[in-house]
Amino acid sequence: MKGKSAIITGSTSGIGLSIARHFASAGCNIIINGFGEISKIDTIRKNIETEYKVTALYSNANMMNPDDISLMVSEAKEQFGTVDILVNNAGIQHVAPVDEFPPEKWDAIIAINLSSAFHTIRAVVPMMREKKWGRIINIASAHALVASPYKSAYVAAKHGMLGLTKVIALETAQQGITCNAICPGYVRTPLVEGQIGDQAKARNITEEEVVQDVLLAAQPTKKFVQLSEVCSLAFFLASDSAASITGAAISIDGGWTAQ
Ligand code: NAD
Repeated sequence: MKGKSAIITGSTSGIGLSIARHFASAGCNIIINGFGEISKIDTIRKNIETEYKVTALYSNANMMNPDDISLMVSEAKEQFGTVDILVNNAGIQHVAPVDEFPPEKWDAIIAINLSSAFHTIRAVVPMMREKKWGRIINIASAHALVASPYKSAYVAAKHGMLGLTKVIALETAQQGITCNAICPGYVRTPLVEGQIGDQAKARNITEEEVVQDVLLAAQPTKKFVQLSEVCSLAFFLASDSAASITGAAISIDGGWTAQ
């Protein structure tokens, strides 16, 4: 990991930020990306640089915009010479019955949660091919494998991400590049905090009932997946030990999709 470079999309918060920190702690130069207050993001970036003695850059690329994505990858190439590791993590959620689902939310979720991964991958693969080494890690979801009501766009995007993962794995299988999907169950991040309120409204139940009866009802462990567990899995997939794992959907969901 030392001296390698990684782009982690959607890494100003939650899973992406934890993965960015974890990779940086092992000596990886990183680009963090996502939205938020610029002063807070700059503090995060500077703290990572000071603590881990790596270069941590910030790209404000909007994952809905292919031109922004292209610029972000060019910046990484300019600053680091290449992109060794790509983590497609940016994602949003909207919860509503399909007949009330706003079309603009559908478009945004497909663009951010799925199409952005196509745009980042197509831009980094030539660099990885040249180095004969690369790691592409797509943060999918248990919802890449199974569905839940009221999440038409999210479930469609995550299932699509799994299809994309398999295609890229096949296309790069002999080039030292791997492409895998991590499929987490519920991790308590800002994205899930938002859903708790939305689900309560959609189902007309309390927020506590959403946590116990909707979210954790799906997870036999009855516990949220920990951020550190997702980071460790991503870190392993980025290592040389995982060279033969490609095109896989790896569940980390407390048994959810075993049912
Ligand atoms: P989060 O809301 O904490 O983080 C999302 C990140 O994406 C933020 O940095 C945000 O700024 C960024 N982002 C949103 N829209 C963007 C855009 N247009 N352009 C660039 N960045 C954008 O969410 P999280 O829970 O950490 O989710 C991260 C990923 O993990 C998502 O893809 C999500 O679907 C997936 N996931 C989360 C869970 C969970 O339970 N938290 C479970 C399975 C999968």
